[in-house]
Amino acid sequence: MTDSATGISLFLQRQKQRGQYQLNRLLGRRCAGCYRASQSSICATCLASIKKPRDYCQVCGVGLSAPSSTLRCRNCLTLRPAYERLYYLGNYEGHLREWIISAKIGQRAEAIEALRVLQREKITEWDMTICQGEIDNFTLLPMPIPKGRFMQRGFNLPVLLALGLSKMTGLPVAHNRLVTLPWHTQKQARLSKKQRQQRRIPYQINDTLPKNIIIVDDVVTTGQTIEQFATVLRENGAKRVIAYSLSRRQPS
Ligand SMILES: [Zn+2]
Ligand SMILES: [Zn+2]
Repeated sequence: MTDSATGISLFLQRQKQRGQYQLNRLLGRRCAGCYRASQSSICATCLASIKKPRDYCQVCGVGLSAPSSTLRCRNCLTLRPAYERLYYLGNYEGHLREWIISAKIGQRAEAIEALRVLQREKITEWDMTICQGEIDNFTLLPMPIPKGRFMQRGFNLPVLLALGLSKMTGLPVAHNRLVTLPWHTQKQARLSKKQRQQRRIPYQINDTLPKNIIIVDDVVTTGQTIEQFATVLRENGAKRVIAYSLSRRQPS
């Protein structure tokens, strides 16, 4: 299919979804999680179901089996990651996982709306001290996705999340050509642990980087991608790198 044909079919598909969504709204608002009638796109029960571990590493976010006084996991105590801290809203499971998949793959309007609402509700918990009072000096940088994948999906969730965060915090979003990826880059998730560790993602830095950066992403799986990206950013002049993600997968 040509690019314009892909564009038209995506446009029609989105119009159809928008129509369905508006119809649902007219019939009464429903929770995107349990589909029960609700005042908001996420009812209180479904919102409360989005959780983080009781004790988790304050650097990489991984759950700690035993509370430690340092609040660091063994990995982060041994080797400090290239980013200062990962801040995330919930574990990659249940409704949060479903919405992320529906938003990214199916571009379902109610899932996108649920993620937007979730981000707005949970961000009030965002401890601004994670940036040590210097939040104003940070720039939001959506995790780059390969152009080929963007054309295929016609949708970029990290950019959407960064725009939402920008609205709430007043922080600027980096321009979309600042860091790019080649047309096709193999997905981290499809690689084995060893392949992931050996592989270097070919980020292209096309302009001077801001001094302080908050990477914005939707899922952190092993933390390897964030670590590599933060390393590249620091090698290219960024002084402080913090990561923000909607969700984090916890090792089973
Ligand atoms: Zn619900
Ligand atoms: Zn850790």
